[in-house]
Amino acid sequence: MRALTYQGPYRVQVEQKPDPRIEHPQDVVLKVTRAAICGSDLHLLHGLVPDTRVGCTFGHEFTGVVEEVGKEVAQLKKGDRVVVPFNISCGTCFYCQRGLTGNCENSNPGSDVASGVYGYSHTTGGFDGGQAEYVRVPFADVGPMKIPDDMDDESVLFLSDILPTGYQAAEMGEIKGGETVVVFGAGPVGLFAMKSAWLMGAGRVVAVDHVPYRLEFARKFANVETVNFKEVGDIVLHLKEMFEGRGPDVCIDAVGMEAEGSRAHRVLGLGLKLEAGAPTVIEWCINTVRKGGNVSIIGVYGPPWNFVPIGTAMNKGLTLRMNQANTRRYMPHLLEHIQKGRIDAKGIITHRFPLEQAPDAYHLFAQKRDGCVKCVLMPHGHA
Ligand code: NAD
Ligand code: ZN
Ligand code: ZN
Repeated sequence: MRALTYQGPYRVQVEQKPDPRIEHPQDVVLKVTRAAICGSDLHLLHGLVPDTRVGCTFGHEFTGVVEEVGKEVAQLKKGDRVVVPFNISCGTCFYCQRGLTGNCENSNPGSDVASGVYGYSHTTGGFDGGQAEYVRVPFADVGPMKIPDDMDDESVLFLSDILPTGYQAAEMGEIKGGETVVVFGAGPVGLFAMKSAWLMGAGRVVAVDHVPYRLEFARKFANVETVNFKEVGDIVLHLKEMFEGRGPDVCIDAVGMEAEGSRAHRVLGLGLKLEAGAPTVIEWCINTVRKGGNVSIIGVYGPPWNFVPIGTAMNKGLTLRMNQANTRRYMPHLLEHIQKGRIDAKGIITHRFPLEQAPDAYHLFAQKRDGCVKCVLMPHGHA
């Protein structure tokens, strides 16, 4: 089959690989119909995720049709259309039983930090991803959700990751009604965090980014106010002033380890690797949010450490919450939001490419060219 693979920092290519097969009786093999490229894939592309091996197939946001079924799979049969959560989870361990499928302890047993994730290096189990013609899906009775017959794949594709992720970001901010919210990052995750904040009853939502077309997209798609941090002096003071000098109730980090805006963190984190990425936005969140407020970190950082102002957070009495998204538990609820027309998930797709052009798609998305918000790959054409 054809698959998009890692070739070293900044280099990906589409190459021939062996077809995946059933390796465990609970596996299925899917014929991939749609596979999206995520901001998290850019961390891989840029060589920032440890133990990303040459030849690894990327892709953790995909839909597909069941092609082959393992002997112990009860819920799926050949021909079923499914959307698959990005975290691989067993459904039965301590964490899965508590709904923390993003923290499953069986899908990547060598690690006490990360669960298994499709196409996300050997630090998350070394599973091949879905930016390919076919993909192997373990624990097939647990993760995949059947796509309703009257819905097309693209309408539900983002249930695999960014929609639940954005939703969880808002939920971790404890938005219940009337709160003021600042979302850093107007990428796909930030956009869905903004939408979710409104759904949960936020009173005011402000998006921060530095890419003008993304801010414009956020104004239209999520009906938010926007601030370009490159156009204001001190972003923290600017935001505080927008909220009566105190700051907002909630700050959400939907940027993660590749943040712009601090030369020091970019040198220390991305250049010298003395930090696990540039925690600029964590710092901005802690400094911007009002005393007693909530900081929700959904942007990805690698272990083990970053220089973040924890003393400030302590003295301000902040609540800090963060995690990988526990995707599976939000899927049914968010499917309903899509069906009822409350979230137009597919509305963020700006680009579609055949699998063979996946490297171009990566570079377009990474360099934020041509108004790109979200790229979707079609390994078997428009079908
Ligand atoms: P993206 O790269 O498309 O978007 C990030 C946005 O942040 C860009 O528009 C960029 O211009 C902006 N940005 C950069 N520096 C900034 C700063 N200092 N302040 C404000 N904005 C800034 O990525 P995405 O797909 O939206 O993903 C965002 C983050 O969420 C990534 O770190 C990704 O790995 C992470 N993520 C986490 C989970 C999870 O489960 N926790 C799941 C999916 C994605
Ligand atoms: Zn993702
Ligand atoms: Zn588990």
